[in-house]
Amino acid sequence: MLGINLSGRRALVTGSSSGLGAAMAKTMAAAGATIAIHDRGRSAAAEAVAAGIRATGGTAQAFGGDVSQRADMDALFAAMDQAFGGIDILVNNAGLDGARADCATSDPDTWQKTIAVDLLGPYYCARLALQRMLPQKRGVILNITSVHEFIPWEGYSAYTSAKAGLSMFTKTLAQEVAGDGIRVLALAPGAIRTPINADVWQDPKGLADLDEKIAMGRLGEPEEIGNVAAFLVSDLASYITGTTLAVDGGMLIYPDFRHGG
Ligand code: NAD
Repeated sequence: MLGINLSGRRALVTGSSSGLGAAMAKTMAAAGATIAIHDRGRSAAAEAVAAGIRATGGTAQAFGGDVSQRADMDALFAAMDQAFGGIDILVNNAGLDGARADCATSDPDTWQKTIAVDLLGPYYCARLALQRMLPQKRGVILNITSVHEFIPWEGYSAYTSAKAGLSMFTKTLAQEVAGDGIRVLALAPGAIRTPINADVWQDPKGLADLDEKIAMGRLGEPEEIGNVAAFLVSDLASYITGTTLAVDGGMLIYPDFRHGG
C-alpha cells in the first residue's frame, strides 16, 4: 500500500499551537515524524498539542520563541539539537495578517512587525535549518505562503508583500540547495477555518462573501492542509522543489468569471 512515511524524520512546525500548524503537526506525527510543536511563548496550547500527539502514540515536544527575534530562533534550534539531535523538516508556518489599513494611513511599526514575523522569521529559521541540513545532505523546507502571494488584498499590503516575498525566497533557496539533497517549496492555503480568520467565518455575511470567492463554495478545513503538507515533506514528493502548490478550493481560478465577462 502506498502511504506517507515520515519515520525517522525530525520536524519543526512553527506556530503549531493552533490552526494549520497544529493540523500539519498532527498529520506528520501520525506519519511517524518526531515533532517540535512551537509557538511564541511555549504556551499551554503548544503543550496541549504536543500532549495530544503523545497520547495517540506519536512523539512530540513543545518549544517556544518569537520567530521575528533572531536570538529566540538561535535558542530554539539549539534546544531542538539537544532534544532531537537535529532537524530534517522545517515548516515555516507561524504568521499573522497584521491590522487592516490602507497604505497612507497605516502604522509603519505594524507594517514592519508583519514583515518581521511573516518574512524575516522564515528566513531566520531556514538559515538555521540549512546549516544543519547541508552537512547531512537531506532535508525539506516547506514555507506556508497564501493565495495572497498571488491575489492583492486591500488593506493588507504588508501581508501580501511578505507572502509574495516568501514565495521568491522559496524559489531562490530551492535553486541554492537543489544539488544538496534538500527540497524547498511552498504551500499556499486559500481560506481555511482557523482562528486567524474567525471574525470572518463566524459572521454569516462574511462567510457568504468568502464562499463566493471559492470555486468549491466552501472554506477549507485545517486537516485538508495537513494532509497535503505531510505529502509534500515526504519522499513521495521527492521530485517537487522550488514551486508553490495552492490548496484553495479553486480560489485562484477566478470563480467570478463563470458568469458574464
Ligand atoms: P493561527 O492564528 O491559528 O496560527 C498562527 C500561529 O502562528 C499561532 O500558533 C501563533 O502563536 C503563531 N505565531 C504568530 N506570531 C508568532 C511569532 N511572532 N512567533 C512565533 N509564533 C507566532 O492561524 P493559521 O490560519 O493557522 O495560520 C498559519 C499560517 O497559515 C500563517 O502563516 C498564515 O498566514 C497562513 N495562512 C492561513 C490561511 C487561513 O485561511 N487560515 C490562509 C492563507 C495562509
